Amino acid sequence: MIYADNAATTQLDRDAFEAMVPFLMENYGNASQPYSFSRKSKLALRTARETIAKCIGADPEEIYFTSCGTESDNWAIKMGSNLTDQIVTSVIEHHAILNSCKSMEDVGKTVKYLPVDSTGEVSPSDLDRMLDDSKTLVSVMFANNEIGTIEPVKKLVDVTHNKGGIFHTDAVQAIGHVPIDVHELGVDMLSASGHKFNAPKGIGFLYIKKGLELRPFIDGGAQEKGHRAGTENIASIVAMACALEKNCAQIDENEKHLKNLENIVITILRSAGLDFIRNGSDYRIPGNISLSFADAEGEMLLHRLDLKKICISTGSACDSVNTQISHVIDAIGVPDKYAEGTIRISLGKNNTESEAESIANALIDVLKNR
Ligand code: PLP
Repeated sequence: MIYADNAATTQLDRDAFEAMVPFLMENYGNASQPYSFSRKSKLALRTARETIAKCIGADPEEIYFTSCGTESDNWAIKMGSNLTDQIVTSVIEHHAILNSCKSMEDVGKTVKYLPVDSTGEVSPSDLDRMLDDSKTLVSVMFANNEIGTIEPVKKLVDVTHNKGGIFHTDAVQAIGHVPIDVHELGVDMLSASGHKFNAPKGIGFLYIKKGLELRPFIDGGAQEKGHRAGTENIASIVAMACALEKNCAQIDENEKHLKNLENIVITILRSAGLDFIRNGSDYRIPGNISLSFADAEGEMLLHRLDLKKICISTGSACDSVNTQISHVIDAIGVPDKYAEGTIRISLGKNNTESEAESIANALIDVLKNR
């Protein structure tokens, strides 16, 4: 099997798995209890928070553990919009953001949507024009999950702050894959999800800048300083810190490896004379290859590659039941002749050169023998 759907999820890192085992077995104490048996859980929680904070240039008290990227996004949008008069987001956000915004629209909030150019990039001057005297929550993703485009986040943050707004970024696809320093960027909130960087599924975090009075999204006990109730998932938190630290230490090496694999795939496809467009900007998440083939069906390509034991995606995994053209492919204006033939190959650090060659050759075989 060749797994090339790393934007959907990644394989759990072996060290991260081993780091979590003691907290599933012998050290199962509840971190909120005062007895000495719980001390190891409490210490692990503190150390993981420090490790994660260090990886993104935050202070440990600015990291709040959540159950996933979707929860982090819901928290940022639903509670962030309590602090503001309106929300501005982009048309290519993940549905965790778009549907949270829709919920806020249903309860009377104004939501405005920024367009993107043909590479999927949001323009800071479009944002500047959209912001008026109303206090605004701006949410623009760090990198798009379908086409990999990295947004000009620092510029968007500066525009937002100049107009007195708050800025959130969904960095689920970017954390652990490109360098991120929250204080340098100036973001007020940032969402992350463990399973996109070789940690287990069902764990994530929200960075909340010190001083931002964000109400809790999940009410209950006093965990996470009373901001996110629910007994902490210590084992997964420990694994997330381990996986993030490892990935951040290997960012340059991984990027070089992944760019090489991307080139292999693209060169082989081009030399076969196939008619296709590569989507996204040149400044994208390493390993992301979004391709739109002329007069093809992405769904057919996915299933034919599946028969050859190759896992790829047609768009975002969270949307795989929806076989229509994705909102991202629509927003960047991929011509009709190509739009339906869109697939996403997302390579990860464990993929090899020979796997990249096999993926490209399998695609050529499928497309030439329809
Ligand atoms: N945001 C983006 C950009 C994503 O790609 C995803 C998952 O695909 C999510 C949010 C949701 O993350 P999770 O699967 O952890 O809920």
